Amino acid sequence: MKALVYQGPGKIIWKTVPVPGLLQPTDVIVKVTRTTICGTDLHILKGDVPAVHSGRVLGHEGVGVVEEIGSAVRNFKKNDHVLISCITSCGRCGYCKRQMYAHCEDGGWVLGHLIDGTQAEYVRIPHADNSLYHVPDDVDEDALVMLSDIFPTGFEIGVLYGAVKPGDAVAIVGAGPIGMATLLTTQFYSPGKIIMIDTDPSRLKLAIKLGATEIVNAADDDAVERVLAQTEGGADVAIEAVGVPQTFNICQQIVRPGGHIANIGVHGKSVDLELQVLWSKNITLTTGLVNTNTTPMLLKTVRAKKLAPESLITHRFSFAQIMKAYEVFGNAAQENALKVIISNSHASTR
Ligand SMILES: [Zn+2]
Ligand SMILES: [Zn+2]
Repeated sequence: MKALVYQGPGKIIWKTVPVPGLLQPTDVIVKVTRTTICGTDLHILKGDVPAVHSGRVLGHEGVGVVEEIGSAVRNFKKNDHVLISCITSCGRCGYCKRQMYAHCEDGGWVLGHLIDGTQAEYVRIPHADNSLYHVPDDVDEDALVMLSDIFPTGFEIGVLYGAVKPGDAVAIVGAGPIGMATLLTTQFYSPGKIIMIDTDPSRLKLAIKLGATEIVNAADDDAVERVLAQTEGGADVAIEAVGVPQTFNICQQIVRPGGHIANIGVHGKSVDLELQVLWSKNITLTTGLVNTNTTPMLLKTVRAKKLAPESLITHRFSFAQIMKAYEVFGNAAQENALKVIISNSHASTR
């Protein structure tokens, strides 16, 4: 089969590798029909994630069809259409019992990280009973790829940890895929204001279409001043969706007393926590890696047409064009790219 293989910092190649086989009775082999590229994959490509070794097949998002099942798998059978969760979970350890699947003792984020991932024609999914979801017949599979990672991440770590309430002023710093997923899912709670902050005018324009009530271009304006002017004393919820010190800094300056800072961004550097200002503000600061425990709920909202994850898809490629897809996604600003779909339109033989 063909797969996208990491070959050390700055190097990836689409090449022939052995088809994965079952290793544990709880495994399933999925024939991947659709996958995508995540900002995290670009971090890996830059060499920011040293746990990823040369030779690793990348990718932790996708949908597909069950090809082969281990003898202990109960919930899936051959030919089932499945959504692959970016988080693998055994369902039995202490963390899984608390639905903190991100910290599963035999899972967590392993796909395309510690084991081979989904940017391939076939992928092995460990603990399949707890790590895959059935795809309803009436749902667009392109849309569902967005539910592997970005929608649960935006919803759980941004909206739920940020404790968004009706009427709140919500500020989202970063209008990338995760920020947009946060923007769409925060609307479940009818906030009074949703202020989107970014430096890319085309992303800000899309944010308005997707429900932002205000936009701030941080390249032209003082974002902190603008948010403070548009809210009564600051944001109730400030959501960080980038992962650099500057954006975290905006969040800690715009949060109002009693408010929440929900950090979603993947940080590679330490930030200055302004505790000398924040100590008396009664704020809550949360962080997190997605648990994907809300995936079944999000699936229901998509099916009920209360959520349209496909609105984030800007480009489509075939598996054979995956290198081009990386190029486009890697130059997202110039290409006006948000999420790319890579599909196995010409299902090849094993
Ligand atoms: Zn991801
Ligand atoms: Zn577990």
